[in-house]
Amino acid sequence: MSTGKINVSVENIFPLIKKFLYSDHEIFLRELISNATDATLKLKHLTNIGEADVTYGNPQIEVKVNKENNTLHIIDQGIGMSKEEVEKYINQVAFSGAEEFLEKYKDTAKDSGIIGHFGLGFYSAFMVADKVEIITKSYKEETAAHWICEGTTDFSLTDADKTDRGTEIILHINEENKEFLEEHRLTELLVKYNKFMPVPIKFGTKEKTLPKAEDAPEDEAPKTVSVDNIINNPTPAWTKQPNDLEEEDYKNFYRELYPMQFEEPLFHIHLNVDYPFNLTGILYFPKLSNDMNMQKDKIQLYQNQVFVTDNVEGIVPEFLTMLKGVIDSPDIPLNVSRSYLQADGAVKKISSYITRKVADKLKSLFNNNREDFEQKWNDIKVVIEYGMLTEDKFFDKAQKFALYPTVDNTYHTFEELEEKIKENQTDKDGKLIILYAANQEQQHSYIETAKGKGYEVLLLDSPIAAHLIQKLETSKENISFVRVDSDHIDNLIKKEENTTSKLSEEEQEKLKTEIETVVPKEKYSVQLEALDSDAAPLIITQPEFMRRMKEMQQTGGGG
Ligand code: ADP
Ligand code: MG
Repeated sequence: MSTGKINVSVENIFPLIKKFLYSDHEIFLRELISNATDATLKLKHLTNIGEADVTYGNPQIEVKVNKENNTLHIIDQGIGMSKEEVEKYINQVAFSGAEEFLEKYKDTAKDSGIIGHFGLGFYSAFMVADKVEIITKSYKEETAAHWICEGTTDFSLTDADKTDRGTEIILHINEENKEFLEEHRLTELLVKYNKFMPVPIKFGTKEKTLPKAEDAPEDEAPKTVSVDNIINNPTPAWTKQPNDLEEEDYKNFYRELYPMQFEEPLFHIHLNVDYPFNLTGILYFPKLSNDMNMQKDKIQLYQNQVFVTDNVEGIVPEFLTMLKGVIDSPDIPLNVSRSYLQADGAVKKISSYITRKVADKLKSLFNNNREDFEQKWNDIKVVIEYGMLTEDKFFDKAQKFALYPTVDNTYHTFEELEEKIKENQTDKDGKLIILYAANQEQQHSYIETAKGKGYEVLLLDSPIAAHLIQKLETSKENISFVRVDSDHIDNLIKKEENTTSKLSEEEQEKLKTEIETVVPKEKYSVQLEALDSDAAPLIITQPEFMRRMKEMQQTGGGG
């Protein structure tokens, strides 16, 4: 037997990295801007702790196109690299300078917002370019360095005459990827991935209209100046403390996040935790009933202000994926392509933290302004009912704020409802019978009859109500839901029997038999109520179990 080492040569893995590492070509720009951001934040950190003796100023990142040469330029004013550093950080594939930096300054730099960690991002440039140049000047060097590589393992490294600090990456865009020289395509990418990155990113210029001077003549045309077109907001609302934000700031951020969404959110939840994991964010409850962009405007996941994905499945519990907003956590483990999440312990903790925060917020809204909460109920009930059905912890918490509206628009919590009906709505075994209607119009006469007898009738008309009812019945003792048009309603102990019919008993029997010739007896039962009742002199009901069986068959099983 012999043992040995498999020799992985860069020559072999290089084409693999280029081809398969990232499924999406477009992410190269995000990676290069992330590196430029890291380089800037590193310099900021070093000047903060007194290790770099330079003026930090207001550094920007610039993205520039040169269409004649087919080149795309990403320029930063960050830390830069010496020749040795280029050798170390760039020529060593999969050696992450970001990780090394965080390791070296681990006591002070953990909140510096540094993004990179796989040491592979830079090479994504070769997905769209057949030649890449780096011109870079370190903050501590006199001479700049110039690295050129044409996508093979050969490179050249020489001196350059760049005089200002920082790095310029030049991509010679290849034939198949010419789209990345188009302004609109680049704008699209910058807005998608870099809209909230922490260092200002300039892309071209734009015209800005100046305010008119006070003594300017009426008909004078407004003056414009050309200013830098900064595509990002480096300090989005979620990075701030809740105390520093007004209601209006949250609304503005919603508009910033979803420019095509014209409906205002109902309320927000600011997430902010740094132990045992780091997570910030703002979630919004949208008005679901009016949401035209339901599919498009989803919760966005960021890591250190870099957009990762708007598929948050697995991080956010399913019932909350209907919400909107942002979550930002460097602790969510992503594979190198950052596109697929792994189900792991940290993510589960994050998911239950989010659930808890949402439940707490709902509870405080309910406690602080019940009237307002009731008004919003129709818009938020789908989320809450679905959550109660699918997450047991949320179900327990929701007992404090979940509402059960009656057909007359009175809202009860479950506890209040029990209190209200315990005298009047029990069967002979003392079981509480909760009457409900699923469709106010169709079941109108049944509702009126039940009300006439002094019963409370709930309106449970959401698509998941049937499942929720089952859940409530199994989790609560001694209650039973009965639909208002079912035969069970007769099993209720009526307070008083004041229903005397105008018909004699004989006449009633005759009428009943006649009706039963047209209504199948096996499926429905016919009762004659007091015939002077306006609402329903005659009631045809269906046994509750039969109706439920049919319902379950239609919706494909129970909850
Ligand atoms: P990561 O960002 O995960 O560390 P990358 O492959 O994206 O890996 O980059 C490798 C390293 O190259 C970085 O860690 C950094 O040290 C160096 N680097 C890349 N771009 C720049 C830049 N614009 N300025 C300074 N250093 C850079
Ligand atoms: Mg990187």
